[in-house]
Amino acid sequence: MAEEYDLVIIGGGTGGYVAAIRASQLGIKTAIVEKGKIGGTCLHRGCIPSKALLRSAEVFATAKNAEEFGVEISEAVLNFTKVQQRKQAIVDQLHKGVQHLMKQGKIDVFDGFGRILGPSIFSPMPGTVSVEMTDGTENEMLIPKNVIVATGSRPRSLPGLEIDGKHILSSDETLELEELPKSIIIVGGGVIGIEWASMLNDFGVEVTVLEYADRIIPTEDSDVSKEMEKLLKKKGISIVTSAKVDPESASTGDKVSISAEVKGETVTYTAEKILVSVGRSANTEGIGLENTDIQVENGFIKVNNKLQTKESHIYAIGDVIGGLQLAHVASHEGIHAVEHIANMDIDPIDYSLVSKCIYSSPEAASVGLTEQQAKDEGYNVKVGKFPFKAIGKALVFGKSDGFVKIIADKASNDILGVHMIGPHVTDMISEAGLAKVLDATPWEVGQTIHPHPTLSEAIGEAALAVDGKAIHS
Ligand code: FAD
Repeated sequence: MAEEYDLVIIGGGTGGYVAAIRASQLGIKTAIVEKGKIGGTCLHRGCIPSKALLRSAEVFATAKNAEEFGVEISEAVLNFTKVQQRKQAIVDQLHKGVQHLMKQGKIDVFDGFGRILGPSIFSPMPGTVSVEMTDGTENEMLIPKNVIVATGSRPRSLPGLEIDGKHILSSDETLELEELPKSIIIVGGGVIGIEWASMLNDFGVEVTVLEYADRIIPTEDSDVSKEMEKLLKKKGISIVTSAKVDPESASTGDKVSISAEVKGETVTYTAEKILVSVGRSANTEGIGLENTDIQVENGFIKVNNKLQTKESHIYAIGDVIGGLQLAHVASHEGIHAVEHIANMDIDPIDYSLVSKCIYSSPEAASVGLTEQQAKDEGYNVKVGKFPFKAIGKALVFGKSDGFVKIIADKASNDILGVHMIGPHVTDMISEAGLAKVLDATPWEVGQTIHPHPTLSEAIGEAALAVDGKAIHS
């Protein structure tokens, strides 16, 4: 069967399904092609299930330390089967919600693998999408005016350290574990690796993190990296930085071991499992790019600032274009691409305004430039930093490690970057994001009356600290 559409979206992850909803709002006749489950990585293998597990881990860790709050629990016992059931129930509920949104928006969902065809009897331009249906029925042929490629990404493995799903895992398999290992080596101390390290440690697993760079979460401000390393080590996580893992040294058996060169010496690490967390590769294979002029650069689809590929009627969004591989970036790009298709007058996305979060315990969050990046860009910076230990609500929570750090430009007084590590900072970073969007100065943020007692007082105080005017320091 062949059917005409204004827009066909290949991939129903966060980027794709949000684009479809926006298109439906704008009256654009839309189909979405999804080979797995609508909701994609974020809903089924990423953000949501990992945060559900992190929450259970946090509750378990809090229960073990309940005495600190004057609560006596004879023994906190972890039922990991129930932890996984709770996670799945949350995912299933949200999955139903997204399916409902597709129906509500009258978006046609095709369950199958989408592939872009070259010029054909259906269209003189590349872009017809052939769908190999999951149920084995005859291929569907979708003839769109525009296409959005939103095929996302998958865990990257290291040559020689291939994921076997048993001893050597990616985040996909780790999320589905039926039993927790006693010990694990995490190769990669980036955002996902650190979330896993924190969670598994809170569940009682012995964790070793091997990070190639000289600090964990190396894209964050170095003060945040240092504090994160200090606090994770305090929890009992073993962190080895400047560790050049030799992927081919991995050996499996009852236990797995792997060697790394650390400060000129070869060190062998042994655990029950290895989690490889070294980034994600774009899903560009088999989707028919060879039938188009679409360019792929460093493994990612190349787009202009309107998110158009070399074929101007074919857009690409989300993880498949690289950059910040985050759900909220993918969805924002989806909306952006659709609004461009609808000829709306929109500015290119300003990626410097994107907030980034790490949901470990402690949490970390940031927006804008790190102090080093600001200096490298030639800014003469002034910095305000305020610790959570001087914030009443943090003490009440029993989580008073960490700080808020604001970097501003001495010349213009612009806020260049905001970096936080500590309790609930992932829920607080949006204030900093809004301040940047509105071009607020640190003084204006400092003049905002932050309610007391709240954790957000740390933002107000850090803003005042930029000009040496913090009250409680
Ligand atoms: P995806 O969500 O990967 O969706 C792509 C979809 O396309 C998939 O459903 C796939 O099945 C489908 N597809 C692929 N090829 C085809 C084809 N040819 N035909 C049909 N369908 C196809 N981000 C955050 O912002 N916050 C977090 O807390 C967070 N936590 C994460 C935790 C983990 C463990 C992981 C792995 C990722 C996390 N992310 C997080 C990243 C986030 O999941 C991704 O950035 C986001 O899912 C990208 O959305 P997307 O739409 O580009 O791709």
